[in-house]
Formats: sequence, C-alpha cells, structure tokens
Amino acid sequence: ICPSCLRSPPGRRPQSGDRPFKCPVCGKSFGRASHLKTHQRLHTGEKPYSCSYCSKAFSQKAGLMAHVRLHTGERPYKCDRCGDAFRSLSNLLCHRAQESPEPAAPPHGSIPTARQRLGLSKPLFLHP
Ligand SMILES: [Zn+2]
Ligand SMILES: [Zn+2]
Ligand SMILES: [Zn+2]
Repeated sequence: ICPSCLRSPPGRRPQSGDRPFKCPVCGKSFGRASHLKTHQRLHTGEKPYSCSYCSKAFSQKAGLMAHVRLHTGERPYKCDRCGDAFRSLSNLLCHRAQESPEPAAPPHGSIPTARQRLGLSKPLFLHP
C-alpha cells in the first residue's frame, strides 16, 4: 500500500472553517444557520413542533415525527420474512434477532457430497 495514500489530505481541518455558526451557549459549531437555530432550541426550551393529536410539543422535527407515529399507528419498518411491521428500526432489529436465523445452506441431502458425486460413497477398503 502506498504510504502517502494513508495520510489525510493536508490543509483541511474538519473542526473549523466549514462550520462558521457557533452556539454561544455550548460552543458547538454548525455549517448552516438553520442548524444552529434548531440546536439552540435545546438551550432555550423552545418547542415549535407540536403534535396535532395531543398537546405534546417538541424542539426537533424528528422527535415530533416519531411521536406522531404513536397516534397514527404508522409502522414503516417491515420484516421481510414474516411481514410484521414496526414503528422503529430498533424494534424491527430486535424482532429480527428473536427470529430463527436464516438457513445458511440447503437442508441435508439436497446437495450430494463430493464423495457421492465421484461415486465414492462406498467404503474404499473392504476386507476379503
Ligand atoms: Zn448549544
Ligand atoms: Zn401526540
Ligand atoms: Zn419477522
């Protein structure tokens, strides 16, 4: 392996430069003003995303989306083996872990062994 390929390209630091918007409260920096604004709601406690089904409010849109699924019953994560659907990916992964593992090879007998294919299934040595 060429050793120069292993080095990261010079002159670019991931921490600075492309993230000019810095949170004055915790110092976290963001590449977009909108990202900073969304983040600052964590500090201000502002929750502009409110559930239309109940009175619960959320500071992040993703949090609201996940919550609304509790009302709508939407289950976007579907098990492709048994068809069961789940609200979150972790639920699906948990379900998949409980299912029996997929058979790695066909059942015994459907594929002849190497010896059978060569006609060597009989014992090689027989006493007279
Ligand atoms: Zn902050
Ligand atoms: Zn709700
Ligand atoms: Zn399943």
